Amino acid sequence: MITGKTKVYGLIGNPVAQSFSPFIHNMLADELNIDMTYVTFPVATGNLHNAYQGMKALGVQGMNVTVPYKADIMNEIDFIDEEAKNIGAVNTLVYEGASIRGYNTDWIGLLRSLKRNGVTLENKKVLIIGAGGSARATAIMCAKEKALTMTIANRTVSKATTIAEVVQSKYDIKVAVLSVREAEVLHEFDIIFQTTPLGMVPKTDACPIEVAACLEKAEVAVDLIYNPGETKFLKSARINGCKTINGLEMLFYQAVKAFELWNDLEVPLEVQDRCLEIFEEAVRNK
Ligand code: NAP
Repeated sequence: MITGKTKVYGLIGNPVAQSFSPFIHNMLADELNIDMTYVTFPVATGNLHNAYQGMKALGVQGMNVTVPYKADIMNEIDFIDEEAKNIGAVNTLVYEGASIRGYNTDWIGLLRSLKRNGVTLENKKVLIIGAGGSARATAIMCAKEKALTMTIANRTVSKATTIAEVVQSKYDIKVAVLSVREAEVLHEFDIIFQTTPLGMVPKTDACPIEVAACLEKAEVAVDLIYNPGETKFLKSARINGCKTINGLEMLFYQAVKAFELWNDLEVPLEVQDRCLEIFEEAVRNK
């Protein structure tokens, strides 16, 4: 029950009404008997500064930040976590004493999803298709986890080059940059990450690759999209014998990590597993 003592957390972005985050956070709070509630705050263009100040003035205890403010919020906050700096995006605001620190939990969500599926990155040759915000989080994760080689392929090759430069300046890994047409015919990748919105509902016929040669020898294909559960890209990967992972667990685990940061705890594994199952069921029935 919400009382005068209930702590408030929330999500700022635009749009936010469709977000699954309230479902996940309020479920975790119920499971762990934590007196908090999580709501969404749509923030209109030009209002980010006021929204941030308002959050502090109203005593909102922590925030998630989503599109289109993940980069702009970095101009507002007091401290930025190292990985969030390297990724260039903050999705979680945490009070540390009187100041607010920004974290990026997307890469941790993706990493936990891979681990849960028995996938490791060390010494693997990875291909990342796309060069937007989520590609950058994927690239930092792969570098931190000691992938052997990394190739980034994007429609706009210069954006892939920018990510490659950031990754190589921070980590001991060689990053190659190709066009998607060049990468899709190569047989040299162990794990392929699809990070573009191509294939997402309602345009489920779209796929970033035209030729599936790169999937023939790959062991694992990951699509950050979760709606539909199996994109055209993942279907092709499955047919080519890859283990396939969609973005739903990433979404769930990035929320779990934010929840852990806010409450200074680790959500027990059995609670995570139970909540993930309930979440997956809710998404299926939506
Ligand atoms: P973003 O920053 O806008 O980047 C989009 C990338 O996709 C860019 O590299 C862009 O290429 C490429 N792209 C877009 N339309 C394209 C097209 N028609 N043909 C070829 N390439 C195209 O987006 P993002 O934030 O990285 O998000 C990307 C996807 O990941 C979305 O579907 C999002 O839902 C998903 N995502 C999932 C999670 C999760 O928790 N599961 C978290 C974050 C994101 P250019 O550089 O050439 O424009």
